[in-house]
Amino acid sequence: MKKIPENYKIVLPPDRIQTRVRELGVKISEDLRGQSPIVVGVLKGACIFLADLVRAMEVPVEIDFAQISSYGDETRSTGRIKVLKDISTPIAGRHVLVVEDIIDTGRTLHYYLSELQLRNPASLRLAALINKPERQEYTPTIDYLGFTIDSGFLVGYGLDFAGMWRDLPGVYEVVEGQPKGHSPKARGHE
Ligand code: 5GP
Ligand code: MG
Repeated sequence: MKKIPENYKIVLPPDRIQTRVRELGVKISEDLRGQSPIVVGVLKGACIFLADLVRAMEVPVEIDFAQISSYGDETRSTGRIKVLKDISTPIAGRHVLVVEDIIDTGRTLHYYLSELQLRNPASLRLAALINKPERQEYTPTIDYLGFTIDSGFLVGYGLDFAGMWRDLPGVYEVVEGQPKGHSPKARGHE
C-alpha cells in the first residue's frame, strides 16, 4: 500500500476509476468495432490511464506517445505550446484516439489535435480521464470522458506534483502544505 500525505484528500478512489475506465473501454470498442486504432498517449500524465484503457478495449490497437509542454499563466509566454516529442506512427487514413489525463485550460490539446488533424486521419477522437471546466479557454470535444472535477490541484493515477505521486492508484486533491517553491500554479504541464 502507498503511503498518502495527510493533506491529500481522496477525490476518486481506485475502484471508481477502474469501473469508469472499463465502461469507457467498452464504449470505445463499440464505436471502433472492426478497426484497429492508433492510441496516442500524451506524456507523461496519461501513461497510467492509457495502460488501463487499452486493456479494457476489445479492439486491437497500436500505441504511440507524444510529449507536449505548455507555458501557463505564470510565464509571459502564455499559451505557447511546444511538441517535445511527436508520434512516429503515420496516421493518414487511420482511426486515432488521443488519450489525455486531464484537461485544464484546454490549450495543450487545442494545439495538438489541430496538428494531428492536418495529417488526415480517418477519425480523431479524444479520451480524457478528467475535465476541469473552471479555467477552460478552449473546449475540445471529449468523446470519452471519465470524470468532471470543478477545481483543485489533483495528483495520482498519472497526475504529478513536482514529478511525484503519479503512481498513486487513486486521484487526490492537494489541499494544503505544499513544499516551498512548488506551488500547484507553478507546475510543469506535461
Ligand atoms: P491544459 O493545456 O489543458 O491547461 O493542461 C494540460 C496539462 O496540465 C494536463 O495534461 C496536465 O498534465 C496538467 N494539469 C492540469 N491540471 C492539472 C492538475 O490538477 N494536476 C496535475 N497534476 N496536472 C494538471
Ligand atoms: Mg497531460
